[in-house]
Amino acid sequence: MSEAPSVIGFYSPTEDEEIWKTRIERDLPTFQFELLEQVEEKRLVEYALVWSPPNGLLKTFENLKAIFVLGAGVDALLRDPDLPKVPIVRLEDAGMAQQMAHYVIYGVLRFQRRFEDYENFQMIKQWEPLVNIEPIEQFPVGVMGLGAIGSVVAEQVSKLGFPVLGWSASPKEIDGICTFYGDDGLASFLARARVVVDLLPLTTATEKLLNRDFLSRMSADAFLINIGRGGHLIEDDLLEALEKKVIAGAMLDVFEREPLSAESLLWSHPKVIVTPHVSGITMPQVALDQIISNIKLLESDGIPMALVDRKKGY
Ligand code: NDP
Repeated sequence: MSEAPSVIGFYSPTEDEEIWKTRIERDLPTFQFELLEQVEEKRLVEYALVWSPPNGLLKTFENLKAIFVLGAGVDALLRDPDLPKVPIVRLEDAGMAQQMAHYVIYGVLRFQRRFEDYENFQMIKQWEPLVNIEPIEQFPVGVMGLGAIGSVVAEQVSKLGFPVLGWSASPKEIDGICTFYGDDGLASFLARARVVVDLLPLTTATEKLLNRDFLSRMSADAFLINIGRGGHLIEDDLLEALEKKVIAGAMLDVFEREPLSAESLLWSHPKVIVTPHVSGITMPQVALDQIISNIKLLESDGIPMALVDRKKGY
């Protein structure tokens, strides 16, 4: 009697599983693809490919060798108190960095060229050229988080000619970027940036970081772009800061609770742009390339790329 094949299990409320099944079965023919919630022989599951699995689901697979997250952030997964103690591998860029750089470039140009004002003028059919546009050389963009995505965003914004500042946990040297790190570097970073872009992971150190005190350290004519995680921002503190003109405006892609509630004042605030968590969307084929090559590495006793450091939380 032949042995049953090992299983690669899948869980995602958003992805089309057929795309994943086709590629996995083609490129890893010794494995069978199954939905994690429907697996009958749980002991056969060796790898789990997941996005936001319910707490406790993964602990039921006793022979799991690694967990692959179908995104860059692992905060939701690490909240599972029963998470098996196996390596966690996340997506590193996987096509998201380019999308997020475009999102940031849109926001930065919108603020610097004052497109919001033109939208308002158009509504009242007012022809009013704004001649005092600030030159890009005087419009520094600060990127918080200089990892797989933040470093690409910083580089692409810098290529447009904007001065770029970067902030990270450890010191970094990146050509053309003025870098800061740690708590000590934050005040100088914030004081200089006209746009602050949050591209941090959600960890115990970064949770609620974008609070009243943080916003008060930004300059009054600065804008916030949050594409990191909603858990970084205290939304009421932002609303208060906008009301009191502590900062000039915000563009938000991520929220404490998603979908953003219809009652949220952020929806209709004239100084806030809301997008529904779309700044960097997982591109299945690029993600699959990365995951398949990482599984091959693990199968040949290699070390996968983009291993998550559980202690740091990213
Ligand atoms: P990385 O893990 O590659 O980089 C994280 C960066 O954040 C590193 O530079 C790290 O510093 C820095 N950092 C972490 N903690 C701190 C801290 N306490 N103080 C200062 N800097 C800190 O992550 P990615 O670039 O791949 O992704 C970043 C985040 O973007 C994800 O975790 C996710 O939350 C978010 N994201 C959002 C998406 C969306 O659609 N809105 C899509 C994709 C990602 P150091 O290098 O020194 O360790």
